[in-house]
Amino acid sequence: MSSLGQTGRRYSVDKRSEVVNTPDLQGGSSDEFYSRFLFDTLRTAVLYLDQWGRVRSANDMAKRLFNDPHLSGKTALEVLSYWDKPIHVHQEILSVARTGNSVTELVEKVEIDGQERWFQTDKIAVENPQHGFNGVVFTLDDITELKQHQLSLAKSEANYRAFIQNSRDAIWRIDIIQPIPLPVSGEFSPHKDALVASINKQAMMGDYNDVFHELYCLDSSTGVGGLPLRDISIKEKLLSVEEFVENELQINNKVITFLDNECQPRHLKLSAQGVVEEECLVGIWGVTQDITERREYIEQLEYQNTHDLLTGLPNRTSLQQSVESSIEVLSENEKLIFMIIDLDSFKDVNDTLGHDVGDKIIQEIGPRLQKVLQDTSSVIARLGGDEFAIMLTGVEDIASIDRIARLLLSCIRQYFYVNSSETSNTEVEIRASVGVAIYPDQADDFSTLLRYADVAMYCAKEDMSGVAFYDTERDAHSPKRLSLMSELGKAIRGSDLTLYFQPKISLHDQRIVGVEALSRWVHPTMGFISPAEFVPVAEMTDLINDMTDWVLNESLRQIKEWRDRGLEIAVAVNISARNLQQEGFCDMVRELLTRHDLPASCLELEITESTIMKHMEKTLLVLKELNEMGIDLSIDDFGTGYSSLAYLKRLPVKRLKIDYSFIINMMENEQDQVIVSSTIHMAHNLGLWVVAEGVETEALQHQLAGMGCEQAQGFHIARPMPANELEEWHHNFERLRMVSNS
Ligand code: C2E
Ligand code: MG
Ligand code: MG
Repeated sequence: MSSLGQTGRRYSVDKRSEVVNTPDLQGGSSDEFYSRFLFDTLRTAVLYLDQWGRVRSANDMAKRLFNDPHLSGKTALEVLSYWDKPIHVHQEILSVARTGNSVTELVEKVEIDGQERWFQTDKIAVENPQHGFNGVVFTLDDITELKQHQLSLAKSEANYRAFIQNSRDAIWRIDIIQPIPLPVSGEFSPHKDALVASINKQAMMGDYNDVFHELYCLDSSTGVGGLPLRDISIKEKLLSVEEFVENELQINNKVITFLDNECQPRHLKLSAQGVVEEECLVGIWGVTQDITERREYIEQLEYQNTHDLLTGLPNRTSLQQSVESSIEVLSENEKLIFMIIDLDSFKDVNDTLGHDVGDKIIQEIGPRLQKVLQDTSSVIARLGGDEFAIMLTGVEDIASIDRIARLLLSCIRQYFYVNSSETSNTEVEIRASVGVAIYPDQADDFSTLLRYADVAMYCAKEDMSGVAFYDTERDAHSPKRLSLMSELGKAIRGSDLTLYFQPKISLHDQRIVGVEALSRWVHPTMGFISPAEFVPVAEMTDLINDMTDWVLNESLRQIKEWRDRGLEIAVAVNISARNLQQEGFCDMVRELLTRHDLPASCLELEITESTIMKHMEKTLLVLKELNEMGIDLSIDDFGTGYSSLAYLKRLPVKRLKIDYSFIINMMENEQDQVIVSSTIHMAHNLGLWVVAEGVETEALQHQLAGMGCEQAQGFHIARPMPANELEEWHHNFERLRMVSNS
């Protein structure tokens, strides 16, 4: 119920609440009674008005509608005073009564308390056989609910149309001409072929929005609506009927890629859903989204994630993926070769020619490497800076791997022709070093391969050998090394390390000229460990500094002890490259000499040739300082390094120890003999004395003496021995010498 106007009069429209009362039968026939009864129970409000527009009769519904039980005698104007256009309605009633032209099925709107209501009205002329037209039957049907429903339907339809039309995605519908019954069991697979055939037959392109044309690259003038699906050119891009059926009448986020009219890749993402009514497929709704831009963006991100931006080569992440996926498919006997190439002294190129030139050279390396590896199955990546890595399969033997690695080096060594702001058309020669690690022989995952190839690459650099294969012996971080290192630390701090001394004699008069201190390590469980094994381990870290401190201190303590007992003898201690880089090394030696109250002349230091070559300038300064302190310096293992004569001249060394590898075979090997004799000759020209190591026989000693070699050391004279044995040996040796001289 809603109130009407200020007066409180109401149009009652509640048809459901009505109760039909049987009218009373007084004064009237039963026909009349039932007519009245039916009239009053009508759901339509009915008024009978005369030719002057006065209500002559009204049914109950009308009375309730206008909320007035006494409508009779009132004019339409009065009754409809709150109607939308009462005068107009009144005039219309008069006109109908006068002309006999009924007005039917009008929809009239009334605003009641700000709410709109609709009525469907008929104004039907009533004819009086004697007097022509003399009345109007006015019926009113409340159609508000229907109207509201229609309006909201129209509105939602409009919204929905606008939504579809304005959508950036293509929204489309496929109609199924004859609904296709679906399997009652709900299992599609046994009926797949039949369903696919039915859909192919019955599917017809229905509605779609404007974007559809654009996304599917269709000419906008040629519509596909109403065409059988099977005849549409884009059928495959729209709906794979097989997949739709397999997937129980839906397709979710399927990506379709094809070339657009400009031959550019287009990526669409599609979802479709079957519409099922009464267990029949009646249509298919679909949405297609253009994800080309997003896809390209993701591809670009992926590219950036997996490639080096300067060279366009795969980066470490991508290389890792390649290595891991290759390892997965390698058969049992196959190997995967992993190489790291590092350019030597590339910092100098950047510093002198500028980073632009540096970048250009880096960019040129990739194509050069690719050329060498073009016929192989390989991946070339840039790890960053001046470091490249290569993954190679299909090459098995070491000689071939070495050959390829050397080809890679030589392709890098070809001149780079560069232009820079500072220089024009400069030729730059770049050298590089390659480290190689092999799967599965050495490492079984990417990170180990990477680390091992890196270790090998540093060995190649250190040895200036160009190419080096991974070798556990030279890996400071191999598990064996790590345990050896921690054990050695304990040995230095404890008492497992001892010194042996090996005498050196003068070939001129057979006198003992000194001893060389050689470290010995007897591990409580591992037993004897050779210095050739543990010294390189110590040299990999600062452990060598502790070890040298210990050897120097122990040697000086021993000299002091011998001296105190009347044995004046000099001790030679082996020094490593790292010791010479150690801050305050000279001060430490000075302090030890003072502590043991010994002159510098009783200490000799042996520095290997390769040590001197490593950090020439710094080494030179330290050696000068040691020499100025009065300590004799020797170059150890001479012949194993690459010293230049010019360089040797600058060193404040007194002796040159020819490496025992040349001495040992000298008697049989003429070439070694030539090397030894020319080394002696050259050393003399530089004012150096020569010591021969590894003198194992009398004949050798004799020959060396004949060649002018000043001193000798070797098993023939004495093996390295503990300090307490040396005194006795010294005594015996001197006695024998005296005897043989007399
Ligand atoms: P090195 O300094 O050249 O020492 C001489 C090596 O030659 C010693 O090996 C010695 O035992 C060996 N030798 C001497 N005479 C003969 C011979 O007639 N025949 C043969 N076959 N070998 C002979 P060792 O003691 O095994 O030491 C090996 C290397 O380890 C040394 O070579 C030295 O470079 C290093 N080393 C030993 N002790 C120390 C140390 O305390 N500090 C440092 N930095 N290095 C040490
Ligand atoms: Mg030595
Ligand atoms: Mg030596």
